[in-house]
Amino acid sequence: MLKQLQMTTGAEFHSAPGKIVCVGRNYAAHAKELDNPIPEEPLLFMKPATALTSLNDKIMIPQGGDCHYETEIALLIGQEISSCSRQEALLAIAGVGLALDLTKRELQSQLKAKSWPWDVAKGFDGACPISAFVPASVLSPASDIQFSLELEGELRQSGDSRNMLFSTLSLIEYISRHFTLLPGDIVLTGTPEGVGELKPGMSLRLSLSDQFVVETTTAQMPGS
Ligand code: ZN
Repeated sequence: MLKQLQMTTGAEFHSAPGKIVCVGRNYAAHAKELDNPIPEEPLLFMKPATALTSLNDKIMIPQGGDCHYETEIALLIGQEISSCSRQEALLAIAGVGLALDLTKRELQSQLKAKSWPWDVAKGFDGACPISAFVPASVLSPASDIQFSLELEGELRQSGDSRNMLFSTLSLIEYISRHFTLLPGDIVLTGTPEGVGELKPGMSLRLSLSDQFVVETTTAQMPGS
């Protein structure tokens, strides 16, 4: 049976959240649904730590423009790693959780059209609701991990880490060649197909393998 988790943001694993390194277009079917080419190398971007918020709290929808959900497996880094091997990557991951990579999609499209960075479309306060983390000793980041999102009782996203273009460990290996990863850093591993818009007053139910279910709702962020 799936447990109903009432935990905070995994603070039991780390004292200070660090950077959030995100991967775009890591599932072929999602790249296709947004008319994006399939990348030959991982496409990386970052969110600031101020984007983090607990999935157990209400998800706040920012004012102005549409806000899309992207459900993703999140990896919590537990050790400092730089230019690591896949074996070292496995040892450095402390936990596995779920995150929403919230995206102001219209704004992102405008930025992409100008060949500008996406930061303001994906890095706003609250743009990264995150679950508690299951210890890597309980759910191996190298195993097949299933996850899903139900919105208003309807299954919208159903992911399986086997369908990633770049596996969890190859992502950590690649990222650590470019940025040193520190304890408390979080890696978002990309979203499967089925992304869509969130509106205030919606109910969400996210599940991670046979580990946990999180239920939450959305609300409008007060005037910003
Ligand atoms: Zn994403």
